[in-house]
Amino acid sequence: MKQRLLGKTPEELREIALAAGLPAFAGKQMAQWLYGKRVRSVEEMTNLSKAGREALARDWEVGYAAPVECQESSDGTKKYLFEAQGFFIEAVMIPDQDRKTLCVSSQAGCKMGCKFCMTGRQGFHGNLSAADILNQFFAIEEAGELSNAVFMGMGEPLDNWEEVKRVLEVLTSPWGLAWSPKRITLSTIGVLPNLRKFLDESHCHLAVSLHNPFPEERLEMMPVQKAWPLEDVVNLIRQYDFTGQRRVSFEYTVFAGWNDTKRHADALLRLLQGLECRVNLIRFHQIPDFPFVPAPLPQMEAFRDRLSRGGITATIRASRGEDIFAACGLLAGKHKGL
Ligand code: SF4
Repeated sequence: MKQRLLGKTPEELREIALAAGLPAFAGKQMAQWLYGKRVRSVEEMTNLSKAGREALARDWEVGYAAPVECQESSDGTKKYLFEAQGFFIEAVMIPDQDRKTLCVSSQAGCKMGCKFCMTGRQGFHGNLSAADILNQFFAIEEAGELSNAVFMGMGEPLDNWEEVKRVLEVLTSPWGLAWSPKRITLSTIGVLPNLRKFLDESHCHLAVSLHNPFPEERLEMMPVQKAWPLEDVVNLIRQYDFTGQRRVSFEYTVFAGWNDTKRHADALLRLLQGLECRVNLIRFHQIPDFPFVPAPLPQMEAFRDRLSRGGITATIRASRGEDIFAACGLLAGKHKGL
């Protein structure tokens, strides 16, 4: 099976070029073809010698894989299904006025087992490679129009940090897509050791899945609380500067009667006191065989207002793509046979 060039850095491409009998500078040219011109085959890299391209193509391919399926929501959101690592994964393109945001998957399934999440329910099948992740950006119809990316699809990105880091490097390097890190948000439930690496090694925005400020209650829904308690996650975040361009937000899915009370709002205010951040309140999308229901909108508004009065900016996030199961927590890579 051929290896894939997508995700390689110019230094790695240089070594690959040399091994194929091409000059060292061909590495830079290959990076331009891959990330600048976005060619889909080695054959299209026409400033490399024909013999060199043939030698290269014996072991390497660009690595594009067309989506298997695309569903479009009545609100314009599109859900793309890809096959990767022998499993199905999903990416969601969310149009919004002048923006087009891609919500990408970083793993096939997920190990973290959050009870309210369809991805968590299917268990873990494998890490996606950088090529699998970049393919979600490059193989969709809107590839040339994307303005933002959020790592909020299937999987926990910090449980696959090395590959995700490589993708961030391709997205933000001058030799890659040259995006500003401000266009990218990584969402995590708080995998502490890799969270520190992410904060040190990238400048992208951070979103933390919080959902409940009380440790014992959070643990009921999120087993990660045991290994990496929320308090430790917040303490780590406090060591970094979020007063400038980089932002941190906290995701809070609101369940009726479980985490929507004044007691929860006040505990959240205490936990986040003094931290420059925002809280995104997310309406829960009901999933089968799970007893919790979404908090009614007036309750969410009261919760938001209590946080705002306490000095924390809170917003109720609009739900997108619910009719095609593309909304938060609903990605399951569901397809024939799965
Ligand atoms: Fe994994 Fe995120 Fe789902 Fe939790 S919410 S199970 S971390 S995909």
